[in-house]
Amino acid sequence: MKAAMKTPRRPVPKKPSNPCVKDPVGVYCRVRPLSRPDQECCIEVIDETTVQIHPPEGYRVFRNGEYRETQYSFKEVFGTLVVQKQLFDVVAKPLVEDLIRGKNGLLFTYGVTGSGKTHTMTGSPGDGGLLPRCLDMIFNSIGPFQAKRFVFKLDDKNGVDVQCEVDALLERQKRDAMPIPKTPSGKRQIDPEFADMINVQDHCKVEDVDEDNVYSVFVSYIEIYNNYIYDLLEEAPFEPIKPKPPQSKILREDQNHNMYVTGCTEVEVKSTEEAFEVFWRGQKKRRIANTQLNRESSRSHSVFIIKLAQAPLDADGDNVLQDKEQITLSQLSLVDLAGSERTNRTKAEGNRLREAGNINQSLMTLRTCIEILRENQMYGTNKMVPYRDSKLTHLFKNYFDGEGKVRMIVCVNPKAEDYEESLQVMRFAEMTQEVEVARPADRPICGLTPGRRFRNQMRGGPINEEQAVSELLLQNFPPLPSCELLDINDDQTLPKVIEVLEQRHKLRQMLSEEIAKTVHAFKTVLQEFDSSVASKENYIQGKLSEKEKTIAGQKMELERLEKKIKTLEYKIHILEKTATIYEEDKRNLQQELESKSQQLQRQASDKRRMEARLQGMVTETSVKWEKECERRVAAKQLEMQNKLWVKDEKLKQLKAIVTEPKHEKPERPSRLRDREKPVQRAVSPPPAPPPSNPITQVPNSQRLVSNPRVHRRSNSCSNISVASCVMEWEQKTPSHKPASGTSNARNRQQEPEQNRDYNSSNRRRGMCWTGVTELPRHRDELEIEEDRCHRVIRLRHRRSRSAGERWVDHKPPSNVPTETVMQPQVPHAITVAAASEKALAKCDKYMLTHQELASDGEIETKLIKGDVFKTRGGGQAVQFTEIETLKQESPTGRKRRSSPSNRDQPEDAADSEWTDVETRCSVAVEMRAGSALGPGYQHHAQPK
Ligand code: ADP
Ligand code: MG
Repeated sequence: MKAAMKTPRRPVPKKPSNPCVKDPVGVYCRVRPLSRPDQECCIEVIDETTVQIHPPEGYRVFRNGEYRETQYSFKEVFGTLVVQKQLFDVVAKPLVEDLIRGKNGLLFTYGVTGSGKTHTMTGSPGDGGLLPRCLDMIFNSIGPFQAKRFVFKLDDKNGVDVQCEVDALLERQKRDAMPIPKTPSGKRQIDPEFADMINVQDHCKVEDVDEDNVYSVFVSYIEIYNNYIYDLLEEAPFEPIKPKPPQSKILREDQNHNMYVTGCTEVEVKSTEEAFEVFWRGQKKRRIANTQLNRESSRSHSVFIIKLAQAPLDADGDNVLQDKEQITLSQLSLVDLAGSERTNRTKAEGNRLREAGNINQSLMTLRTCIEILRENQMYGTNKMVPYRDSKLTHLFKNYFDGEGKVRMIVCVNPKAEDYEESLQVMRFAEMTQEVEVARPADRPICGLTPGRRFRNQMRGGPINEEQAVSELLLQNFPPLPSCELLDINDDQTLPKVIEVLEQRHKLRQMLSEEIAKTVHAFKTVLQEFDSSVASKENYIQGKLSEKEKTIAGQKMELERLEKKIKTLEYKIHILEKTATIYEEDKRNLQQELESKSQQLQRQASDKRRMEARLQGMVTETSVKWEKECERRVAAKQLEMQNKLWVKDEKLKQLKAIVTEPKHEKPERPSRLRDREKPVQRAVSPPPAPPPSNPITQVPNSQRLVSNPRVHRRSNSCSNISVASCVMEWEQKTPSHKPASGTSNARNRQQEPEQNRDYNSSNRRRGMCWTGVTELPRHRDELEIEEDRCHRVIRLRHRRSRSAGERWVDHKPPSNVPTETVMQPQVPHAITVAAASEKALAKCDKYMLTHQELASDGEIETKLIKGDVFKTRGGGQAVQFTEIETLKQESPTGRKRRSSPSNRDQPEDAADSEWTDVETRCSVAVEMRAGSALGPGYQHHAQPK
């Protein structure tokens, strides 16, 4: 046996599978309830996938001083309250579905003895397990499509063949005619336990069974005990005296690398009852063997194999297609493993110990195989998996090596005694779920059109079959012997004929009855079929109309959506256009806005400029008018002062006449003569600088302009005072302006050259007295004035100046030092800051240094010179004779007013310039100590 097991593997090409897709072994855990409620429980179901094991009292496992609880996770965990149906739906149903779709499956229960393996697999009375439920589901699914018995024939090489229905019928008859061997189980009695288990009443079935196939179910039941395989369904002749020990079977590998038990009984079953009956038979035999051979039942592995053969109907849908290649044989192996506990725990002795050891050996091999498989898969190693080391692993080799769906139910009893064994079971189970098995490939679809069976039934296929059956039966009629009577005494022929005829008659009657029965059966089938067809038709019609409605609804929805899409597209188009227009508008408006804002800014700046200009104009005008007002006030003041002065002078003269009566009389005419004498004025410039003249030479770069402006004048109208003359003249020329350098300069700029000459001559002629006197502008104006006043200008010769002249140099402290190279210097002068009578009494010449701002912004220094006279009243009077103007100017700038060539001109010519009205005016200042007019200054005409 061992040698056979270790036969080297043949390198046969494998059946095409789907190696890419692999599924892990599905491991489920079922926790059975405790037998007694007072038992200690050491397993808890945490959730749907987790169980926790904790050591029982007095059996504590410590790791690092901590009490250790272990949790194990599985695909699903079924607690104590889970019923068989729930377990079946989750674990076994998919395997049955696979079986019907032509795929292999393996389901085994694993656990220690008493943990509920058999309860789970077979079930308990009144509570059918997975096995009867699987059978029930299979027959519920394939019931109406089952082939006639013997249409499928299993061969002894794990293969299947097909034969026509007639051959199958004949074979059936032959088998029926065979004497039934006498076995203890030969007489079929209905076992109440069996009836309880089979009564699953689940009506569970696979929905999408291929109706164009015909199916047949074959079951076999084997037991692996002590590494021997026994066929539990083998019909051994009953030996009541010395029963033979059962013959063990050997394993072989078929052409698809599936292992099979050679010569194993495989029973074709047509219903759940029949199948379960076969199983029950095997079960009974197992029990008997255990009893007879003194075996421990829990030490054996039982394997119930359900094989499903299926082949397509031919094109007519009438008969099964006679093509072996088209047959699919799938199998579902339901394995109830032996208890996984260790030998010593069972207290087995002798023969039993050996058995137990072996049993453990099988399970050990199973563990080793799983471990190595897992290692190979996880770490890519290629270790040989020792399937052949035990019958158990060898039998299921191809499930792990090849393809199929493998599921394991780990059964655990939570009682404390099983704690250690349960731990082992859990560890193995957890490891097992890390092994992956190739998913079985889908069965190739046969090329025939679907719905063949249905069409054939509509055509009345069953009638043809009936005819064939009748013909077949007629052939079975006993042949008629020769009816020819050659001898009158022939008493054999007739009786023979009669006998045959009687036989035939009997047969005919039997056939008639059969036919009647068949007809009846057929009628009922037909009725059933009709009703099923009608219901199916109704159902299909309903579905069809439903679908049509749905399609119509969907079409309408589609149309509606299309319309909506079109509308939305149109809307989008319109919106896009509008958006473009708006954008255009926005751009235009923005441009407009920008231009407007620019315009506004321009206007604002214009406004600001205008405001500033107007402001400027306003200030200018107000300043102008202020100045004008001041000027007028000053003019008025001067006028009034002059008037006052003239009156004062008259009064003085009258007083003098009154106070100096007789001895003074002869002088009066001279005095009057004196008065009548024209006022002699200083004529300047002198042709050459006199020794006393403070003006020195003029350098090229920086010229001091000597511009004598005050002239000695003689008044032809001797009895009219100079002041009154000036006043009168001022009244005549109200439009004249103060000697403002700016206005003069401006006028000069505007006037042509000749006019400028004229003006300049005017200026030279003009008299400057404390900066308030202004000159008439036009010569003709002046001439008119001159004529009116009948003034005669007479040049007065320069007074000879002795070297002994003494000067009062009056320099007001407000003067600014000019810091020019040339400075006016008067030797032997008495320099005073303010004019004092004391100083004047000592000197006969007076010079006032006066500064003012010229029109070009330069400081103009004026040296106002005069002669000091003693007045009759004992005071001092100064008659101004000349004004020297000292000014800095750039050589490239203004035209020189006084040049050496001018100076060199004849005196007459020079003097002729001074013949205008201005030169005819004279001013006299009398300084009196303790004068009531102010700090010692008094204006009065001082006749010479
Ligand atoms: P095993 O086959 O593992 O040795 P069994 O299936 O024979 O164990 O179970 C032993 C006993 O426990 C049986 O009497 C069975 O009815 C009972 N039992 C096992 N599992 C359950 C369960 N889930 N619910 C109720 N009873 C159970
Ligand atoms: Mg059992």
